[in-house]
Order: sequence, then structure tokens, then C-alpha cells
Amino acid sequence: MTTDAGAERPTRYFVRDDDIGALTEELKTFVEVFLEHRIPVSYQIIPARLTPDCAAYLLEIERSYPELVEFGQHGLHHEMQLGGRRLKREFGPERSFEQQSSDIQQGLEILKRRLGADRPIEVFTPPQHKFDANTVRAAAGAGHRVFSSACYPSLRHRAAYSLGRRLGWSSIRHHGISHHGRRRPEADIIEVSISIAVDDGRSLCCRASELPASLEAACRHARDVGLMFHHAIYSDPAAVADLRSIANALALLGQDRFFKLGDLV
Ligand SMILES: [Zn+2]
Repeated sequence: MTTDAGAERPTRYFVRDDDIGALTEELKTFVEVFLEHRIPVSYQIIPARLTPDCAAYLLEIERSYPELVEFGQHGLHHEMQLGGRRLKREFGPERSFEQQSSDIQQGLEILKRRLGADRPIEVFTPPQHKFDANTVRAAAGAGHRVFSSACYPSLRHRAAYSLGRRLGWSSIRHHGISHHGRRRPEADIIEVSISIAVDDGRSLCCRASELPASLEAACRHARDVGLMFHHAIYSDPAAVADLRSIANALALLGQDRFFKLGDLV
């Protein structure tokens, strides 16, 4: 499968698993399935929810399979209070640069304390892909190299991104304008975003049988195509069977076509 940019540049794929915090059976199953298929995964960790036993587990799998795992930062708390309401997003125009920057730096410090001070953590994923210009600046200011959000290939999304870019907007309120595959205009940081939500954190959105069409649509608009998962939803045997079918279908694309997110820039 190739991009519209030409047959000489084959599509590069990546897998992102979000909302790492506690060490659960679902996380272990997810990790095992992708290790079995030798597909690298970029695990996005919620710093305030990362437990010591989960950190130890992540370090152990990284020691055994360094080429197949990568760790990124997924906000700090993955929630915030707004007007008395608890929201699952954490960033956006309601919060100042200083507030966002302080949270991102604090989250990075937690990750370095739990996973090792020398480790590079260079991928930042804003919870729910919600952000504004200050989020991008704050992530770059903390030292992140990669900003990973969403770049969906539907006509509706592409029209919104295109309009936003033309107007020089970073987001429409807290909905990000994608610059996938390029340096973000707000700061020195490259955006590498997912194109396919295999699940939305609540339920499966793309079964193995639907993957070829989703991949084809995504590949028409991007050279680098990422797939987002949330391991927590693959809990019962039927869901784990779905996950295995998806991993099988991805492995058939060729393991050498899969990269760690941070290796794409
Ligand atoms: Zn999340």
C-alpha cells in the first residue's frame, strides 16, 4: 500500500496504546499480543496514574524487547474540572500557557522518576487529542520532540484541518488542527498523529474485517499511518479475540513496515 505521494515511498505504520496507568490483566494481554506479533507499540502513560508495579513491568518488557516498546507522556491527570464539571480532557484554551506547561513538566518529572532519569521521553499525546496553541508550545518547551494527536482522513475532518491551517489556527476551541507529518507552526515539534481509532476507549470502532478499507482510506492522505488503541477495553474473551484478529491482520502487512512513533521523525 502506498501514498498518493508515489509508489517509491511505502506507508510506514505505527501503533499507539493510550491510558497506561495501573498494571492490569488487560494491559498484560495487550502487551503480550503485540509482542507475539512483533509489532512495536508506543505506550502513552498517564503520569499521575502510573503505579510502581506498572512502571516495573514496563521497564521489564523494555529490557527484554527494546525494539518493540516505547513510552510517551499522556498529559498529567487525564482530567480537569471546568465549571464544576469533571472532564476527561486536560488541555485547551480555558487554561493558560503557565498552567499547561506546569502540568506537562510535572508529568515528565514523574515519568523520569518512575522510569529512569536518563530515559528520553519525547512523545507527547494530549488526552482526548484536545489542545490549543499553548499546549503545543508547552510540550515543546518541556523537551518533547513529537506531538501525537489525531489526523482523521474523513472529508469532514480534512476540510476542518485545511480551513484551520489556512486561517493559522492551532485549534477550533479545544479541537486540534492537524499538521500531521510536519513541524507544528507554534513551536519546534513534529506532529505524528494517528489516523485510525481502532477503538475510542469505550468500544471497538474498527474490526479486523474493516481494517483494509480503513487503512486504504488513511494511506491515501498520509505516508505515516497510526492506529490508536486503549488496552482497557479488551477485557472479555470476545474482545481479546477481536484484538488478536486485528494484530494478525496488521502483522500480514509486514512487521518491517511498523515503527516506533518516535522513530518516524
Ligand atoms: Zn487517553
